[in-house]
Amino acid sequence: MKPAPFDYVIPGTLDEAIGYLADEDVESHVLAGGQSLIAAMNMRMARPELLVDLGKLDELAFIREENGALHIGAMTTKRTIEFSPVVENTQPLMHAATLMIAHPQIRNRGTVGGSVAHADPAAEYPAVALLLDAEITAVGSGGKRTIAASDFFITYFTTALQEGEILTELRIPAMSPNTGWSFKEFARRHGDFAMAGVGVTLNLDAGGHCENTKVVGFALGATPIRCQAVEAAVNGERPNPELFAAACAKMMDGVEDPTSDVHASVEYRRDLASTLAERAFAEAVGRIGAVA
Ligand SMILES: Cc1cc2nc3c(=O)[nH]c(=O)nc-3n(C[C@H](O)[C@H](O)[C@H](O)COP(=O)(O)OP(=O)(O)OC[C@H]3O[C@@H](n4cnc5c(N)ncnc54)[C@H](O)[C@@H]3O)c2cc1C
Repeated sequence: MKPAPFDYVIPGTLDEAIGYLADEDVESHVLAGGQSLIAAMNMRMARPELLVDLGKLDELAFIREENGALHIGAMTTKRTIEFSPVVENTQPLMHAATLMIAHPQIRNRGTVGGSVAHADPAAEYPAVALLLDAEITAVGSGGKRTIAASDFFITYFTTALQEGEILTELRIPAMSPNTGWSFKEFARRHGDFAMAGVGVTLNLDAGGHCENTKVVGFALGATPIRCQAVEAAVNGERPNPELFAAACAKMMDGVEDPTSDVHASVEYRRDLASTLAERAFAEAVGRIGAVA
């Protein structure tokens, strides 16, 4: 199919882009890499009257490390993340997750901001943002604000961004030293969206007990979710396979309205998520050993 008719502008500055989006009488959409939006327009699931292309806003394409935190501009492509030594060294989990996103052609065009703003529950970057406590900057005609990732993802393809706001930047705080991490997903073919995915970070205290455990599951429900029941079961305990098996059985606890679709039933997703989480814990703990 072809998209419904639309107008198209390509602003040269962020202020100009915000100006275009401010007109409440026109249904406008931001165009970033177009890897989700153009497909939705072609299927007429999205029918914007005006496309505001951010493609010329070089001011939104950057990777910077400031005081240990990683700042990533919204128009930074996934391919740039993939080949960034700064990302690989400071946030190896994000780098690993990037390699699981689609295919090189899509990573060449698709942007960090586009993935986070699109908020597909099976996408990697929303889960990464939640797991790594990212702060998301949004700019609109009302000014600039910062939203914690934990407040950002509302439901399927819906975020805390307001009409006319542009996501401009992700700020990811530094990982504490000796953090173990793992990011795992299952997809039927390489490059497909995940049927289930899990990210884990944790530390070990001086006595070898797990602390600061964070677990995020994705493709399980309407948004990526913090799996607090799993975290609580692991914190304070010495890592071992029996502990992780028992804790990871709780992966779907707290997931409201778990996803069941043509790809996988709720029961299948629960099994997948638990197995992935067990493997993720083993890998994360192994990584602490490797750096200790
Ligand atoms: C075959 C295929 C396989 C894919 N597999 C995966 C996968 O495995 N994992 C995955 O995560 N993704 C996957 N994707 C999606 C891809 O990662 C997209 O790049 C991503 O979802 C959207 O990024 P984009 O820059 O292309 O945004 P666009 O498609 O341009 O925009 C997507 C939405 O976000 C809004 N938007 C974009 N940027 C901003 C901004 N800065 N501020 C506010 N709103 C904004 C747009 O208005 C639109 O509503 C796949 C896509 C295809 C075509």
